[in-house]
Amino acid sequence: MNSPTDTFQRLLRELRISVTDRCNFRCPYCMPKELFGAEHHFLPRSSLLSFEEIHRITTVFTSLGVRKLRLTGGEPLLRRDLHRLIAMLAEIPQIDDLSLTTNGALLTREVAEKLKAAGLKRISISLDTLDDKVFQSMNGVEFPLGQVLQSIDHATAAGLAPVKVNMVVKRGVNDQAILPMARHFRDSGQILRFIEYMDVGNSNGWCYDHVLPSVELLQRIHQEFPIEALPSNHPGEVAKRWRYVDGAGEIGVITSVTEPFCEGCTRARISAAGTLHTCLFASHGHDLREPLRSDASDEQLRQLISGWWQQREDRYSALRTQQNTIPAKIEMSYIGG
Ligand code: SF4
Repeated sequence: MNSPTDTFQRLLRELRISVTDRCNFRCPYCMPKELFGAEHHFLPRSSLLSFEEIHRITTVFTSLGVRKLRLTGGEPLLRRDLHRLIAMLAEIPQIDDLSLTTNGALLTREVAEKLKAAGLKRISISLDTLDDKVFQSMNGVEFPLGQVLQSIDHATAAGLAPVKVNMVVKRGVNDQAILPMARHFRDSGQILRFIEYMDVGNSNGWCYDHVLPSVELLQRIHQEFPIEALPSNHPGEVAKRWRYVDGAGEIGVITSVTEPFCEGCTRARISAAGTLHTCLFASHGHDLREPLRSDASDEQLRQLISGWWQQREDRYSALRTQQNTIPAKIEMSYIGG
């Protein structure tokens, strides 16, 4: 079967798989503790796709053109024996990139080595500031900064380099940390990426005033450390790449709000409950778990996914400012980043 294209001729090349809706942080821009408190009901284990189901559905997606996989959550390292799933996925011959996004809280040296040995290729670790006090308030559970910094070193030492460090920049909250972060990660071999604050889900109280446009962010860095643009590594790459002119390394910016990149978006997402979403800002999805568990054949699953992809019209970020009403969106902790 040929690779399906959507209504904007976009291929299906990348699959992001959320392996759990649980997280050990409560970042206000994703999972505010007011909404995800002690009484919140997370998905029961029986509702989560099993490793065997994830492996099977991923194989079907690769027959439709998927070549890149990213494991997300919630916090994916909360899923027990995750290295076992990684080993299963790493054996799929068509997959040429297998990565994971984590908050680093559970990423010890031993875990990093286990993930690497299982076949994980790359890792992105979220870190929004180097100010321990601000960090503890931004993760909502007072988790200490030091342990996340150590997790970056563990990942690097385990050979998951270059580690990408993802910083969500919220104006008036942590934008004063941009230059300290840049100074810290220069010459480190790690790639610092600045993510524009996005209106994911419905619960982070997003407003445009809190967005620091990447062009302004890059100007702040350029004033202290001259930078120049780099070409993208591959079509549809999410981050725009820049390098320090003095050779101190690379940074990236993810400009979903001010410079949307929907025209090249080849990403699909599967929630931990097995729902297919064709956009990070989706307000609905397509259930894959039911056909998976009612003995649909691989061909039937291929037809289903291909049909849904061909109907895909998603361009949320490109249309963000033109929409009068925005339907309720699926929370990011369900869809995965
Ligand atoms: S807003 Fe949706 S369609 Fe646009 S780049 Fe993001 S995930 Fe892709």
